[in-house]
Amino acid sequence: MAQDSADRPTLVNLQDVHLSFGAVEVLKGIDLTVAKGDAVSIIGPSGSGKSTILRCINGLAQPQAGRITVAGVRVDALRSEAERIALRKRIGVVFQQYNLFPHLTVLQNITLAPVRILKVPRAEAEGHARDLLARVRLADKVSAYPGELSGGQQQRVAIARALAMRPELVLFDEVTSALDPEMVGEVLAVIRALVREGLTSILVTHEMRFAEEISDTIAFTENGRIVAQAPPAELFYKSGNPRIRQFIGGFQ
Ligand code: ADP
Ligand code: MG
Repeated sequence: MAQDSADRPTLVNLQDVHLSFGAVEVLKGIDLTVAKGDAVSIIGPSGSGKSTILRCINGLAQPQAGRITVAGVRVDALRSEAERIALRKRIGVVFQQYNLFPHLTVLQNITLAPVRILKVPRAEAEGHARDLLARVRLADKVSAYPGELSGGQQQRVAIARALAMRPELVLFDEVTSALDPEMVGEVLAVIRALVREGLTSILVTHEMRFAEEISDTIAFTENGRIVAQAPPAELFYKSGNPRIRQFIGGFQ
């Protein structure tokens, strides 16, 4: 959690974002702000639009109305695939499914994109990858293949792979939801450390205690709207909204 988010520049801003799939409106006017260095969690019922918000932020989904600014780029105004690819290089994404390449070692999985896409010299990319593996506590797995790792270890490699692109922002979409319970803690510990170091992050999560602990603000989504975005203590304990209290209470 960062200090004094009010003093730091805004990295992500959504204003009145509307998105429909066919006749179904799934985002009904989303407003969201993330300051540089902040961790913002998005919580809310399944199907309420959380993943779609993340997809709008990295240009994978195209809203019909509203403004999205990420690191000075008007994402809603991008018109070419090349512009969207350029945006995506600057935003790391970690999903529930880690999707590592099974035929590549851990080191190769992490260096692939920096070498191929950013044209980082191989030796430099490998040095960075080793540093990142130490940060996700997998320094001894450099030469392992994904199939030799547990789910929690594979997810930590996926986090290192996202960081290898030196992203300005990382989106985490329910990254512990597919893990066996005993592996959730090790992945959350890695994310907690990254957030404390000042990584700007947006996290969709059902881990309420974790969200409360690490977030600068938490946004609650319901039915395509962000009902509230507030510091954890305010949202968890002072919200007058019965739906929010009921939702959070269901996880305690
Ligand atoms: P959440 O992540 O909160 O569970 P999503 O953002 O995935 O919710 O989905 C919000 C709504 O949009 C859901 O009703 C879902 O069925 C619908 N939806 C998401 N993606 C698509 C798509 N590509 N086409 C049609 N409907 C979609
Ligand atoms: Mg989702």
